[in-house]
Amino acid sequence: MNELVQRFLRYVAFNTQSNPANSSCPSSEGQMTFAQFLKQELVELGLSDVSLDSNGYLMARLPSNVEYEVPAIGFIAHMDTAPDASGENVTPQIVEDYQGGDIALGKGDQVLSPIQYPDLHKLHGHNLITTDGTTLLGADNKAGIAEIISAMAELIAHPEIPHGEICIGFTPDEEIGRGANLFNVEKFGAQWAYTIDGGPVGELEYENFNATSADVICHGVNVHPGTAKGKMVNSMNIAAQFQMMMPSDETPECTEGYQGFYHLKSASMSVARSELGYIIRDFDREGQQTRKQFMTDKVAELNSKLKQGRVELKLTDSYFNMKEQVEPYPHIIELAKQAMIACDVEPQIKPIRGGTDGARLSFMGLPCPNIFTGGYNFHGIHEFISIEGMEQAVKVIVTLAEKTALNYQ
Ligand SMILES: [Zn+2]
Repeated sequence: MNELVQRFLRYVAFNTQSNPANSSCPSSEGQMTFAQFLKQELVELGLSDVSLDSNGYLMARLPSNVEYEVPAIGFIAHMDTAPDASGENVTPQIVEDYQGGDIALGKGDQVLSPIQYPDLHKLHGHNLITTDGTTLLGADNKAGIAEIISAMAELIAHPEIPHGEICIGFTPDEEIGRGANLFNVEKFGAQWAYTIDGGPVGELEYENFNATSADVICHGVNVHPGTAKGKMVNSMNIAAQFQMMMPSDETPECTEGYQGFYHLKSASMSVARSELGYIIRDFDREGQQTRKQFMTDKVAELNSKLKQGRVELKLTDSYFNMKEQVEPYPHIIELAKQAMIACDVEPQIKPIRGGTDGARLSFMGLPCPNIFTGGYNFHGIHEFISIEGMEQAVKVIVTLAEKTALNYQ
């Protein structure tokens, strides 16, 4: 079995599920255990400046092997797995030379079916790694870690491949939205970086949503229902009216591609007080502003119909589209595209209908698009990865390092 696969299998054996209920960083002990293990591997591989801080951020460097100035570039992956499915006792199974049809997962009745996941049709002849149906696999993002480390090993074994300084960073708690929080961009030292955290081969992403949360708070008046006439104000009715004022076709279930939406994702209700939790998403900064204004106007409209102050709106921006930070430096995307093409991988540029740590890092001064890992169906028991896809990711990382050096020759 090749070194890349062995690495990956070693890593998924660690339970690194992050825990949103724990406010410390890292949010689970398993992540620190894994980080210490990886630190040892990086040292043994011969990387420089290997450091693990008390929050679980692991960084290292591969020094430049050329005489001329090349900007330092970085590769980043996250060590935690999603809280959505168990990451304990992951028992991967390898399906050699997949020829189509259902794949039984372990001894249970779970199957991985091309009817449910048509991407499998494109993977005939591939060697796949799946779960045993009881846990997630953890390819998100341990495949990224294995691919980055294998690429560094490749560069070390082949000193004839020119490259500038390469910075690598493994972060905790990405799945609970905190991966960028304590990332020290200055210490990392790269001028730009790539997260290796995408899905199918070819994925290259540098556009993500602008994200705002919008809490609508409706104030009512509670009175015993027997004597409520003319006195009770039921805040749940106000909340219902507000929701009816929202555009019914601009929701997650009615939109795709570059379309934005309003999403009512939670509600807590009683007669006296009701709170609606919305998220607003739009790729365009102005479009996002228009959406925020739309909600503000609807609140004002409702307040002028009712008593002023019955409805309140709290808007909080959470992250922005990294495109703003990446587009001024077109070579960041251009080099990634060239590297893929040189590896016979067709770049698939598509917008991320969500956010990434890379988006946050981009606004912290480290432009950071996202590249594929070769994995599918992240965050659940149907997660799997193609070994050939992983190998292509390693090649792309190596070639990207090389192309960057040649570009500045
Ligand atoms: Zn991920």
